[in-house]
Amino acid sequence: MQNYGALLNLFNRYHDFALSTHINPDGDAIGSELGLYLFLTKLGKSVKMFNTDAVPGNYKFLPGWERIEDVHALRTYQPEVLIVLDASTLERIGKTLAESLMPTHKLVNIDHHATAEAFGDINLIMPSASSTSEIVYKLIKSHQTSIDKSCAVCLYTGLMFDTGCFRYSNTTAETHRIAAELIEVGEFAPDEVYRNVYEQLPVAKIRLSSEILRTLQVTDDGKIASVYATQEMFRKTRATADAVEGIVNQIQAIAGVEVALCVSEMTDRSAKVSLRSQGGVDVSQLAAEFDGGGHARAAGCRVVMPYFSAINTLVQTAQRYIDQSSTEHGDCQKD
Ligand code: 5GP
Ligand code: MN
Repeated sequence: MQNYGALLNLFNRYHDFALSTHINPDGDAIGSELGLYLFLTKLGKSVKMFNTDAVPGNYKFLPGWERIEDVHALRTYQPEVLIVLDASTLERIGKTLAESLMPTHKLVNIDHHATAEAFGDINLIMPSASSTSEIVYKLIKSHQTSIDKSCAVCLYTGLMFDTGCFRYSNTTAETHRIAAELIEVGEFAPDEVYRNVYEQLPVAKIRLSSEILRTLQVTDDGKIASVYATQEMFRKTRATADAVEGIVNQIQAIAGVEVALCVSEMTDRSAKVSLRSQGGVDVSQLAAEFDGGGHARAAGCRVVMPYFSAINTLVQTAQRYIDQSSTEHGDCQKD
């Protein structure tokens, strides 16, 4: 049982709050941030939101998204309390923001990543929660405040996104109960939320997908699938870096694949790596070897090496994890 009391006390004690979330924000990052923003605003607090990266176009149907500011808007502003959402380390909100957005009183960390660091004065870390949005839901409920319509659609979006539309192993009966309540109070159509998030694709994303899928390689044993995206592909298709999202899930769906990975060449000579697992390998541990993190079945990291070296390194490391897991489960062949 989590103790929400310490955080609820802050809501009573302080007036100026700032919220932030991780770089390349996804549905749970934006959903939990806006959900908490709307709740605190309803309590009469002064709340500001600062993110390193812009809100992706497919989340611009969510109430309050246009209130999210970037690091340039910060200037000398200091909130009394800074709440960081869905970021397993403080640096995940972006280096400049992490160094310049300083609370005068308390730093709070709300997260559900397996690799979450307790970097706050108050840490609400619940790896068993499906999403950070679910934690925010429970926090608001423990305040005994009703969730209003605008807050409900934000939290639902986060829940929907991080459970892969209620398909992943983090989906439970409780997730469905929370989703049902949010649909009821939010009075939105779930199919519309789905269409907003997933069916507003720029054509460039489909063109990029076809380029990336052409790079597919599967190891001889069929257990590791990998793809990559190069800067040349981004130029050719005019797609942006966030267009890579989701492709790793497609190759993870190949029969027999245990670990899937997608490597994107970045502009600064580093490579961004997305990892997915069927469950036999904990990819958050694998990512942590490269200073990344995430969840057991979905994780990522950044490595400073050319993309082709990154693929080799990551495939080799994934192979080591697969060998270990098959030894542990006793399915290695005896002579
Ligand atoms: P994705 O592959 O969708 O970008 O990320 C999958 C999961 O891994 C997410 O939960 C995300 O927060 C985490 N993740 C991705 N990249 C990084 C990274 O560079 N560092 C850390 N700590 N986590 C990451
Ligand atoms: Mn999340």
